[in-house]
Amino acid sequence: MKIICIGRNYSDHAKEMNSPIPEEPLFFMKPDTALFRDTNLYYPEFTKELHHEIELVVKISKVGKHIAVANAHKYYDEIGLGIDFTARDIQKTCKEKGLPWEKAKAFDNSAVISHQFIAKDLLDLGNIHFSLSKNDATIQIGNSADMIFSIDELISHISKFITLKTGDLIYTGTPEGVGPVKIGDKLTGFLNEKALFSINIK
Ligand code: MG
Repeated sequence: MKIICIGRNYSDHAKEMNSPIPEEPLFFMKPDTALFRDTNLYYPEFTKELHHEIELVVKISKVGKHIAVANAHKYYDEIGLGIDFTARDIQKTCKEKGLPWEKAKAFDNSAVISHQFIAKDLLDLGNIHFSLSKNDATIQIGNSADMIFSIDELISHISKFITLKTGDLIYTGTPEGVGPVKIGDKLTGFLNEKALFSINIK
């Protein structure tokens, strides 16, 4: 399986990063070794600025290529929640030098994923509320209504370039409010007020 992540899919997050609003979806990838489903996550030694990015995650349910926007809904059944952990200090250096982002984005355990996914038929896809709390204080709030590109548009765009396969995950971008975590923090992700994962930074 593969993990495809969307960058700058919420305009308020693009603003906080001083990045332009994209004219088409921006995506990058993480390897399967980035997936983290455990409880205790060890702070990586190579960064001093580990940032949380809470994101809705789409699980692909069928192989597809060149998927039309109108057909994209047939290619996923469930939505989960994850964190696209980012070594922001390394990403800054990569951006300044025009280098790829993998060192900052694709490292081991950088893709937190909920055990539970919610059937899309139980959700209003245009109004999914989600949030991240740190030590019981809410630090990021998002709603799928604020996505620049909808889930169906993302699937259509990605599949022009890359064949999507069953089990692939699409991290659909983070809303504003990204920030640092430190050892001792407890992070909990909520989808429509339901806690879907909780991790401790060790
Ligand atoms: Mg992200």
